Amino acid sequence: MEAVHERFLRYVKMDTTSNEANKQSPSSEGQMVLARLLAQELKDMGVTNARADEHGYVYGEIPANCEDQPSIGLIAHMDTIDAVPGRSFNPRVVQYEGGDICLNAEKDIKLSMDVFPELAQKVGKRLIVTDGTTVLGADDKAGVAEIMTACERILQEDSIRHGKICIGFTPDEEIGRGPNLFDVPGFGADFAYTVDGGAIDEIEYENFNAASCKVTVHGRNIHPGRAKNKMKNAARIVMEFNAMLPEAEKPEYTEGYEGFYHLTMVRGDEENAFAVYILRDHDRLKLEERKAFIRRTADFLNARYGEGTVEVALRDAYRNMREVLEHRMDIVERAKKALAANGVEPRCVPIRGGTDGATLSFMGLPCPNVGTGAANGLSLIHI
Ligand SMILES: [Zn+2]
Repeated sequence: MEAVHERFLRYVKMDTTSNEANKQSPSSEGQMVLARLLAQELKDMGVTNARADEHGYVYGEIPANCEDQPSIGLIAHMDTIDAVPGRSFNPRVVQYEGGDICLNAEKDIKLSMDVFPELAQKVGKRLIVTDGTTVLGADDKAGVAEIMTACERILQEDSIRHGKICIGFTPDEEIGRGPNLFDVPGFGADFAYTVDGGAIDEIEYENFNAASCKVTVHGRNIHPGRAKNKMKNAARIVMEFNAMLPEAEKPEYTEGYEGFYHLTMVRGDEENAFAVYILRDHDRLKLEERKAFIRRTADFLNARYGEGTVEVALRDAYRNMREVLEHRMDIVERAKKALAANGVEPRCVPIRGGTDGATLSFMGLPCPNVGTGAANGLSLIHI
């Protein structure tokens, strides 16, 4: 049987970067290449009905070998972020004995303990790292490799009793389209886990509720020498709008369950100004309060500068899957039990972002997220 890390090293050498500019699914040809490879490998190991569809989604099943067990799905995404090169040219395994890890002597790139104190918990472990010039691709090839290896073991070891196991690999998670064409009824699971988290002890069943906000300010430009009591400077008003938002409720000052207003773009001149924000909160009511505060701020400025000066357009994005999963905590408990049975103390942590599992949960497939062992996003995984 191929070791999980060998499988992983094979997959990360393939370029599956998703491409937001391409509206097709999958958004890059590399993902289709990996999808076909995975479908073939599933078929070769004996997975039933292994297939890659035209949009780059891979499905397969392992039939139940006992009764009275639910059908459990395992899901990971094949694409990697569009940042530095999305293909790992020189991943390598290091035996970590503490201190900084030199990733690339020639270019003097290292993984330092100062920037990444979590390294302290990895002493004595074998780690896979990049040469510092590419992503590693652990997000989420680690999940893909782990699910593939789990399937192989389940099929080879008769002693493992299980209900039907449904396997799903999705494209384009990093550009927010992972669940769009996911065939929930065809997948056939009662519930599922995305294997797409960080540390192996993490289980995640809560994520942000999300909304976006576009602010448009209509000003009135007058020659500054004759502007008294006439000019309405849109650029200044958009700054005033921003200054009225709660100072401490920004991503750089918040953690855990604290929500925020995050300015992602601002531009303008005296005549017109625009700002874009994202609003996040685990608590839906608090997100609604943030939306209401935005509207009140616009009303206040309109009272000061004239009706129609400030326009806001608020749009809801994704929701917290907790709303679904709090009625199905047995699914979370099952994952906790599985970790504990393998000597890992489980930890439930709220995701400060979104997850495909949230969308899938609202599509009728309750779907918390479990860790892969990857850390630091770009450069390291422990095996
Ligand atoms: Zn991911």
